[in-house]
Amino acid sequence: MGVSGRLGRFVVAAVTLMMFLPMALFPQQPERDSLLSGIASGKTRVVDLSYAINDKLVPWPGDKRWFEAQVNATVEKNGYFTRSFWMLEHYGTHLDAPIHFPPGKTTVDQIAAKHFFGPAVVLDVHEEGAQDADYRAPALRVEQWERKHGRILEGSIVLLRTGWASRWPDAQKYRNQDAQGKMHFPGFSAEAAKLLISRKVSGIGCDTMSADYGASEDFVVHHLVLGAGLYQLENLADLSGLPEAGAFLVVAPIKLENGSGGAVRVFAIWQ
Ligand SMILES: [Zn+2]
Repeated sequence: MGVSGRLGRFVVAAVTLMMFLPMALFPQQPERDSLLSGIASGKTRVVDLSYAINDKLVPWPGDKRWFEAQVNATVEKNGYFTRSFWMLEHYGTHLDAPIHFPPGKTTVDQIAAKHFFGPAVVLDVHEEGAQDADYRAPALRVEQWERKHGRILEGSIVLLRTGWASRWPDAQKYRNQDAQGKMHFPGFSAEAAKLLISRKVSGIGCDTMSADYGASEDFVVHHLVLGAGLYQLENLADLSGLPEAGAFLVVAPIKLENGSGGAVRVFAIWQ
């Protein structure tokens, strides 16, 4: 075999390696094409991570009104059915836009659409949360995830799975308030938030009322995450079926001009 033959074999081997190396390095990034084409056939799982909106969800303590709907037209009377409704921006499964907490500036309608699509990073802390309702996931939990699945990709959306969704919509259990009215449920720590911001994720989310733990008084995670221009997803529905890595999220908030946030539909897809 001549030099050109050996060189040719080397080139083929190098190209093959380059094609497959990224997949080996980033196992959390599935083949997007088959992921989308598998939706219709059912090969791709589609899970809705949002609660249906009604007047019986758990509002933030102190809110006096949260949701009202009224019928404007009925099929019997008008030949068609319509309603109007009023609700809080932060009620049920919702998105916190950066402007919700300083120094954040962006309103919900101004968030770039590309940030609403990204790989789901699921940090499972349901055992820690069951033992300590004031648990704050440390940066170490993020580092443990990365040791298992690879470095968190830019544009990822990081979900904290506390298991609190199993208490929904029982306000007493979900808020878990003490005699002084202070709430107790797990959340992100400031250190974890800082690490995730440095990874350039698009947003973070949780299956509790707040990205900060329930007893927080300074809302440090809100200030950090929203201040860095990221968004938060709160009151996400049951996350128990999601893989820790490999799912892809589609986040679809209401495009409410000048809104501090609003109702959001969140879908996870994976094979
Ligand atoms: Zn909120």
